[in-house]
Amino acid sequence: MYKKRAISVILIIVMLISLAFQPAGADDELEKAKQEKQNIDNQINQVKNQKKNELNEKAQLEAEKNNLLNTEKKENEEYENLLNEINELEKILEEVEQALKEAEENYENQVNQFKAHLSAMYKNSNETILDIILESKNIIDLLERIELISLLSKRDKQIIDQLKTAKEDVEYKRRTYLEQKAELQEAIREKKNRLESLKASRASVESQLQETQRKIEILEKQEKELLAKSEEISNLIKTLSTRKKYVEGQMIWPLPSSTRITSTFGTRRHPILRYIRTHTGIDIAASSGSNIVAANKGTVIVAGWQGSYGNAVIIDHGGGISTLYGHCSKLLVKVGQEVEAGEIIAKVGSTGLSTGPHLHFEVRVNGEPQDPLKYVSY
Ligand SMILES: [Zn+2]
Repeated sequence: MYKKRAISVILIIVMLISLAFQPAGADDELEKAKQEKQNIDNQINQVKNQKKNELNEKAQLEAEKNNLLNTEKKENEEYENLLNEINELEKILEEVEQALKEAEENYENQVNQFKAHLSAMYKNSNETILDIILESKNIIDLLERIELISLLSKRDKQIIDQLKTAKEDVEYKRRTYLEQKAELQEAIREKKNRLESLKASRASVESQLQETQRKIEILEKQEKELLAKSEEISNLIKTLSTRKKYVEGQMIWPLPSSTRITSTFGTRRHPILRYIRTHTGIDIAASSGSNIVAANKGTVIVAGWQGSYGNAVIIDHGGGISTLYGHCSKLLVKVGQEVEAGEIIAKVGSTGLSTGPHLHFEVRVNGEPQDPLKYVSY
C-alpha cells in the first residue's frame, strides 16, 4: 500500500517535470501565429479589394480620357476648317475691295469726264445751264445747244448710273462678306474656347489617372509585403506544427550501400584542420553518387550550401530532433518538403571541407549534436 503511494507520488513528479520540459507555450505560439496569419490574410484581401477598385477607377478614367481625346480631335478638325474658311474669305474680301476700288475710280472718272465735256463745250465751267441758254445766238442755236446738252447728259447720266449701280453692287457684296467674316470670327472664338475647356478637362483626368496609378503602386507594394509576411508565418506555422512532437518510429541507417564508418562521433584530430575537435557526427564512406536516405520521416528545413558541410540537408523530425546529411554531391529535396523514412534525399559527394566521398551524418536534439550510433544501426 505504502509502496504504491510512493510510486504514484514519483509518477506525478515525473509528469510535472515532463510537462515543465515541454517546449514552453508551443501551442500558444502556434495559436498566435495562426491568428496573425488570419489577420494578414484579411489585410491582403482588403488590399486586393482596394486595388480592384482603383483598377476600375483607372479603366473608367482612361475611357474618359480617350473620349476627350476623340472629341478634341474632332473639334480641332472643325477649328482648322473654320480657319481655312476665313482665309478663303479674306482672299475673296481682298478681291472685293480691289473691285470696289476700281468701281469707285470708274465712277469718279466718269463724273470727271462729264464735267470735262461740259467745260470743253463752254470754256467757263462756272456757267450754268441757264447762262448757256441765255448766251444762245438764236433760237436754232438754242435748240441745238439744249439738244446737245440733253443728249450729252443723257448718255453720260446713263454711264454714270450704270457705274453707280456697279459700285453699289460691289459695296453690297463687301458688306455681306464682312458680315460673314464677323460670324466666322465669332465661331472661331467659340471653337477656341471649347478646345481650351476640353484640354483643361483632359488635364484634370490625366492628373486623376496619375493619382490612381500612384495608389495602385502603393497597394501593390503593400500586397507584396503582406504576401511575403504571410508566407513567412506559414513557414513558422509549419515548423511549429511539425516540431510539436517527435515523429514515431526507429531511425534507419542513412546510407543503404555502405556501413563503413571512417570516423566516429566525439573528440578527434580533424583530418584537414589538424587540431583536436569534437566530431559532431559519424562519417560513412561510400562511392560518389551513392543514395542517401532520410533516417526518418520529417520536414526538410535546410537544403543547400552550408559552408564546411558543403551541400547539406537537414530534416526536422519533431520534438526538437533533427538529422543532418553533409558533403553531398547532389540534393534531391527542397526546403519545406515532407519526406518519408528511407526516401532518397541526396547523393554522396565530397563537397565542403572533405577529403573524399563520404556522408557526414548528424543527429541533433534541440540543436545539440548527439552520437548518431545511439539512434541508428546497420
Ligand atoms: Zn564528418
